[in-house]
Amino acid sequence: MTIEPSSKSLRIHEIYQSIQGESTFAGTPCTFIRLAGCPLNCLYCDTPQAIPTDSGSAFPVHEIIEKVRTFGHPLVLVTGGEPLAQRNVIELLKALLKEAVTVQLETAGAHDLGRVPDGVSIIMDIKTPGSGEAARNRWENISHLKAGDEIKFVINDRDDYEWVKKVIRDRSLAELKIPLLLSPAWKALPPATVAEWMLKDRLPMRLQIQQHKYIWGDEVTGV
Ligand code: SF4
Repeated sequence: MTIEPSSKSLRIHEIYQSIQGESTFAGTPCTFIRLAGCPLNCLYCDTPQAIPTDSGSAFPVHEIIEKVRTFGHPLVLVTGGEPLAQRNVIELLKALLKEAVTVQLETAGAHDLGRVPDGVSIIMDIKTPGSGEAARNRWENISHLKAGDEIKFVINDRDDYEWVKKVIRDRSLAELKIPLLLSPAWKALPPATVAEWMLKDRLPMRLQIQQHKYIWGDEVTGV
């Protein structure tokens, strides 16, 4: 398949291959497209280097697609930073879908998800109070979620955990019938503790650990 040249560009922090460490695709080889820039500033952010809007470099969409083809993995994750903060991400997502790959989009959900093309699997990271950014949650985005999407919560402590339980109950998230991921913040909360809480509460969620950090450690980037 030829690649249509595109004048539209995005600011890219890095494109690399690794094991998808999160979501229901955890453990799967994946091409990561990490976009630069994020309007949020979460306390637990593990990619602070991608927050500045002037980080990274501009690449046209067709060059990004060429790089994705070079890696050749059927799973591609568009992440950040905050991908939806860049207008041209929609063009990129449409181009990736034409590559007949599974396209995941990880987003904080602080921007309108109604613009995301059908076929893209959204991982919406609902911000907990421990992130310091819970006020940025755009709750109306929940109505845009569909089969194939996932919701993720990163929790720092028991207060975050109780907050998540309340959100699930008050917003009837279990009725969406999509995976609800509960991810303890790295080194802030032991996964075993969260597992005990979940079992005791019979919580309808899936414990998520960041597999890539267990494989390579938390200091290494680009893996
Ligand atoms: S939304 Fe994601 S990239 Fe942005 S500050 Fe929060 S954790 Fe970091």
